[in-house]
Amino acid sequence: ASDGIVLGALVLALDRSEDHDSVTVEDLIRQWAHLAGLAVERRRAEQRLIAAKAAAEQASRAKSSFLTVMSHEIRTPMTGVIGMADLLLETTLTGAQRTFVETLCSSARSLMAILNDILDISKIEAEKLALETLDFDPALVVREVVDLLRGSAQAKEVSLGFEETTPLPALVRGDPTRFRQILFNLAGNAIKFTSAGRVMLRAKTIAQDWKHCRLQFEVEDTGIGISGAQLATLFEPFAQGDASTTRRFGGSGLGLAISKRLVEMMGGTLTASSTPGLGSLFSFTVRLGLPSVSQIEVFPPTSTPPTPAIMAGKFRILLAEDNDINQLILRSYLEKRGHSVVVVANGVQAVATVQAVGFDLVLMDMQMPEMDGEEATRRIRALPSPLGGLPIIALTADAILENRPRYLASGLTGFLTKPIDWRQFDQMLAS
Ligand code: ADP
Repeated sequence: ASDGIVLGALVLALDRSEDHDSVTVEDLIRQWAHLAGLAVERRRAEQRLIAAKAAAEQASRAKSSFLTVMSHEIRTPMTGVIGMADLLLETTLTGAQRTFVETLCSSARSLMAILNDILDISKIEAEKLALETLDFDPALVVREVVDLLRGSAQAKEVSLGFEETTPLPALVRGDPTRFRQILFNLAGNAIKFTSAGRVMLRAKTIAQDWKHCRLQFEVEDTGIGISGAQLATLFEPFAQGDASTTRRFGGSGLGLAISKRLVEMMGGTLTASSTPGLGSLFSFTVRLGLPSVSQIEVFPPTSTPPTPAIMAGKFRILLAEDNDINQLILRSYLEKRGHSVVVVANGVQAVATVQAVGFDLVLMDMQMPEMDGEEATRRIRALPSPLGGLPIIALTADAILENRPRYLASGLTGFLTKPIDWRQFDQMLAS
């Protein structure tokens, strides 16, 4: 063709037998030109489609990575906002001031939840979300979710229960954080959209061999319910009920889309049924591994035996963190709880200070100038005992799970993501 596209080869053969002697070479060439024209058109249309598809994929990738980077970047200053507001709450305040700060805290946390949702959905869409493989007690996770939500259920006089219809395995192998996220989203929605009555969580084992199990979880509520039309698009990103519901209840409309994808990544399905005005039932299955007894691992890995100072609950802590605001937040929090804290701003100083002063514990930021946390951890681990065995807990702003195995490989005892969940933090110090 004129634009250099090679379409193929055409073989012309003229049948000279009597039946066909009316066909001329000109006829054949005309027919050939017609066919070739059609083929060129089809090929051009195909090429336009391929180019449009590539452009759309490129745009979608750009959108996902923009969302990932932005939500990631916004998390850092948000950490400062939440940390400062938490500290402010621990000071002497008038009643009105307390209300303002509490509102500030809850708004900041909602914003953080939205950022986390955007980060999750963009990672899922970019197929960059990886699940962890850890051993956990599934019933315990359900109970934790129930405990976390009990307050908001009680505030509305909604009863909240959990029933193990058939016993769950004591330990399963999978991603406890993502599993908790699914349950928390479904149970949180159930409470959010129920003004009276009950929210019930049920769990059962539907199949089990000696390596895997399939579990089913249900969340049933007696709330406002979901219309047939809304059910059809319920699991699409940004799908929400009518605008007035959204204004009243808040939310990003991403929770169910994320949950559905997470469930699918865990080899299961998430479905919903509802009778408007009477309530809704969300049900999902997951396929999880079962640890063989000899393989049971504990997370975080157990470290050196605790020293008497650790038993007493007062630690000498080295905090390696380059961000001023985080230094201030962590130092205030730790000192308020009676620990003594030495702050350094990079890995080089951390390695030097660990050798000069006696510490029980190191809190190590991962992203630091001069020497990052990973390298500093490796160097501390290379020091002679007992220094080399110091518990080192990573502090990391990135909620990106793929980095965890790498961080742990550098010899870290465990880690916490920023903004610090203080409950988890205290638990980690206590263990
Ligand atoms: P959001 O963060 O807005 O709650 P979700 O994806 O979790 O986002 O939920 C999307 C929408 O589905 C909600 O806004 C609500 O309209 C509806 N929905 C979810 N769960 C329930 C429920 N248990 N009862 C009634 N409506 C629900």
